[in-house]
Amino acid sequence: MSKNKFETNAIRTQLERSQNLEHSVPLYLTSSFVFEDSEDMRASFAEEKERNIYSRYSNPNSSEFIDKVCQMEGAEAGFAFASGMAAVFSTFAALLESGDHILSARSIFGSTHALFNNFFPKWNITHTYFKIDELESIEKLITPKTKIIYAESPTNPGVDVLDLSALGVIAKKHNLILVIDNCFASPYLQQPIKFGADLVIHSGTKLMDGQGRVLAGITVGTAALIEKIYRFSRITGPALSPFNAWVISKSLETLAVRVDRHCENALKVAVFLEGHEKVNWVRYPFLKSHPKYEIAKKQMKAGGCVVAFEIKGGVVAGQKFFDAIKLLSLSANLGDSRSIVTHPASTTHSKLSREERAETGITDGMVRVSVGLEHIDDIIRDIQQALG
Ligand SMILES: *Cc1c(COP(=O)(O)O)cnc(C)c1O
Repeated sequence: MSKNKFETNAIRTQLERSQNLEHSVPLYLTSSFVFEDSEDMRASFAEEKERNIYSRYSNPNSSEFIDKVCQMEGAEAGFAFASGMAAVFSTFAALLESGDHILSARSIFGSTHALFNNFFPKWNITHTYFKIDELESIEKLITPKTKIIYAESPTNPGVDVLDLSALGVIAKKHNLILVIDNCFASPYLQQPIKFGADLVIHSGTKLMDGQGRVLAGITVGTAALIEKIYRFSRITGPALSPFNAWVISKSLETLAVRVDRHCENALKVAVFLEGHEKVNWVRYPFLKSHPKYEIAKKQMKAGGCVVAFEIKGGVVAGQKFFDAIKLLSLSANLGDSRSIVTHPASTTHSKLSREERAETGITDGMVRVSVGLEHIDDIIRDIQQALG
């Protein structure tokens, strides 16, 4: 591992220069690679040497992206995927057998929830949800078939925070694989491996690219587990495209400065909302009023880009707010340079029942703001006028 700091590694971890001595890493838009002779080809396929064969297995641009994220997360190895969900699916599918059981936090990304509920039962893979406020009761939910503990922190869209080191202790004690979706924090704010995670998953689509251009995903962690994920993925083909790998690897060069500004702006939005008469409550990990403020401070460098709040007046007031927004985007993404507002109850989490939504902290009047990089005065002015 390099002794350089995060920002330096994000910029200086790069492929060896080609004979053209380019300064910025070029794009290797090639599906396959050539061999010197029959012996080179034989040895390459026998995996006696590490080299690129076919871009479904590896590609220089993907490798650079993986190297950077491994440095950032303190991981031994990784594999890059076409999307965050490809990373989530392939990680579980590579590690689990029919009959295995997943112990997962209740508050997880909507598509991951749908994967557990609608598809894994086909392969006899079951799950139990735990409430993140009741970590002490998790041990009772572990069965002889449990193999993975899975969680996100901060959670989407409720912006709750989970004690990662407490979870790490439980996973170690029971010899379970701890997998953390670290997408909301980004590797700049939080490195779950430090707290005992074996694998870390990211949707690169969010803060990593940060400019709303490409879909990408990645799983990093121990070499032994990544080897299994690699074996599965090189056959099933969820690999990240070289072009998207090139884009996102460049994006990582600016991750630290972007995320610093996201967090600075988000905290100002959270403080503004907390003082507003039309707002019932605000949740942001680095607000003192957040129930997990101390844990957030312990495991995160700053609070992230997402703020959740509830408008007084439920659905009707919520709809009025969305229709009055002028500058901010009404969109499903987050972690973008453009600020985005969403209404989880009527969009991303509409397929859940009201009770299921309530369990994950989603109320009818709840708004999620992904605070972007526009000038803070303009962001707040738009939210203020929309609140009326
Ligand atoms: C967006 C997201 C995903 C899925 O990523 P895609 O790139 O959209 O497939 C997974 N987990 C979390 C927490 C996310 O926000």
